[in-house]
Amino acid sequence: MLMRTKSSLERALGVDISIGLEKGEFSVLYQPQWDLFTKQVTGFEALVRWHAPGYGQIPPSEFIPVAEYKGGIHSLGEWVLLTACRQAKSWQVKEGKTCTISVNVSGGQLEDIGFADRVFEILSMTGLDPKYLELEITESIFLRDLSTILPLLEGLRKEGVRLALDDFGIGFSSIHHLSRLPLDCLKVDQSFVRFLDSPKTKTVIQGVANLAKELGLRTIVEGVENKDEEFTLWELGLNQAQGFKLSPAVPAEKAIRFFNQKVV
Ligand code: C2E
Ligand code: MG
Ligand code: MG
Repeated sequence: MLMRTKSSLERALGVDISIGLEKGEFSVLYQPQWDLFTKQVTGFEALVRWHAPGYGQIPPSEFIPVAEYKGGIHSLGEWVLLTACRQAKSWQVKEGKTCTISVNVSGGQLEDIGFADRVFEILSMTGLDPKYLELEITESIFLRDLSTILPLLEGLRKEGVRLALDDFGIGFSSIHHLSRLPLDCLKVDQSFVRFLDSPKTKTVIQGVANLAKELGLRTIVEGVENKDEEFTLWELGLNQAQGFKLSPAVPAEKAIRFFNQKVV
């Protein structure tokens, strides 16, 4: 087996993302999200992977920043969105199963004024109802020009697309920003879960849960790895979870088994 070395990043820097897309080197995996109260799987997050020949799998944390820097993020992001929406619709049609599909969107994509139109085009092409699509934006958008991003987000939400704030709590958000963004969901960053033994962390998470409730937002906690964490988060009033406790991100054909499964 080939070892992935530091040079995978160098390679990523030297390679055009669009060439990788043309060659079919990218794939999308799906990680289930479940309701902490009903224990049912409610949706999946689409997570992109790059299988670069000779270098194995390069993680998105390495190539997404490169794609943002070099400009390939637009074509890659659209491809992920199309693939994920097509998959969600196919699960509906072939399996009779509806679920939310969450797709990560980078700040660079949101600065493109044509982005919302591309989303609507993809929804119409795939036939997916906008209410089943949740776009995940990160707190880094607060460093960008919100005067163009805000109307774009409002336009998407007006048409029924849901919006989640990803990696909440470790970035640049403030309570003021939370009240301005047209959000449906807060995704609490997994770093909180790693310190769940600390009474202070519990208090902070409970505060986040209460704030989200007051703002009418759902909460999903990322990085839930075991039953104890799951139980504590349920006790603290969080709504949903995602993490290795149930499953890592898996190919679509493996994800299907989660539809009929109660999370134990
Ligand atoms: P994210 O959106 O916050 O995704 C969650 C990350 O946490 C994923 O890493 C997932 O595999 C990992 N994870 C899930 N459950 C657990 C757990 O229980 N424990 C631990 N330790 N980790 C867990 P992944 O797939 O490597 O993605 C990393 C980041 O890359 C994502 O963070 C997201 O910001 C970005 N990314 C992935 N796919 C896309 C994409 O299609 N577009 C954009 N713009 N960014 C993407
Ligand atoms: Mg995400
Ligand atoms: Mg996250």
